[in-house]
Amino acid sequence: MVNYKDLGLVNTRAMFKKAIEGGYAIPAFNFNNMEQLQAIIKASSELKSPVILQVSKGARNYANPTLLRYMAQGAVEYAKELGCAHPEIVLHLDHGDSYELCKNCIDLGFSSVMIDGSSLPYDENVALTRKVVEYAHQYDVTVEGELGVLAGVEDEVQAEESHYTKPEEVIDFTSKTGVDSLAISIGTSHGAYKFKPEQCTRDPKTGKLVPPPLAFDVLDAIMKQLPGFPIVLHGSSSVPQEYVDIINANGGKLPDAVGIPEEQLRLASKSAVCKINIDSDSRLAFTAAVRKVFADKPGEFDPRKYCGPARDLMEELYKHKITDVLGSDGKLAQC
Ligand SMILES: [Zn+2]
Repeated sequence: MVNYKDLGLVNTRAMFKKAIEGGYAIPAFNFNNMEQLQAIIKASSELKSPVILQVSKGARNYANPTLLRYMAQGAVEYAKELGCAHPEIVLHLDHGDSYELCKNCIDLGFSSVMIDGSSLPYDENVALTRKVVEYAHQYDVTVEGELGVLAGVEDEVQAEESHYTKPEEVIDFTSKTGVDSLAISIGTSHGAYKFKPEQCTRDPKTGKLVPPPLAFDVLDAIMKQLPGFPIVLHGSSSVPQEYVDIINANGGKLPDAVGIPEEQLRLASKSAVCKINIDSDSRLAFTAAVRKVFADKPGEFDPRKYCGPARDLMEELYKHKITDVLGSDGKLAQC
């Protein structure tokens, strides 16, 4: 049993409270490899932003759970080397799908877990979430639950259709389970293909798809039920078209990939939404940079020569998200 506090990590409680009061959101960036982690830590440390490192079940399988945990521990030390004497770094399990997986992560040193029972019948979601909360809170680990279903595909999570969170269920769910934050469904979606072309309109000038707006009325109704309660948005990549264009211009094929407009996320950040999950955008940045190097320099075979530019582009992306979308720059309690 490793306690996250011994690793220099923090849970989400204090940072969410501060984020809601301050009208900004904490970035939750998924990571699977060293370059992503370096880029996340460099961006968040230089901008003095709290940050949530997210590990999905797929990432655990890809990278090895123990290795990921030591990487997160190393991230704390790296942030200090970068001049952040008091970094606020959360190691969070994204989309935990069982009690055992959540317990395993908590025992390994995670400071926060998500238990996603959103595909279960309501009462089973409540019971499973409650069980995880009871275990997690013994170690002061925070827990994110989910109500409502997001469409799209993310690692092993996938759903054909979305179902908005029902505002009339949120008080019952949060009080029965004791969760620390709630992921909701208001029209965000997992992956780089968040919407089908028939759900969108098309910009006549660029020919690009324009996605339907988020259901801010549902968010408002939820906030009315749960004033000041931390809300989480999943599937909130914006699928920057400049990355899609680089990918497509260099041998890739991502037709009609479309995400959530950043203005809408900026708006959400100012509300009780205090954690915004971004994964696909960094995948796109990584892929765009690698494809460009391969197209420009077909003789290149040193991974540092293509993973390095990918890391640089991801760092730029993370800095943009922190500063221009989430507003979490300069928000560390102590620098
Ligand atoms: Zn998600």
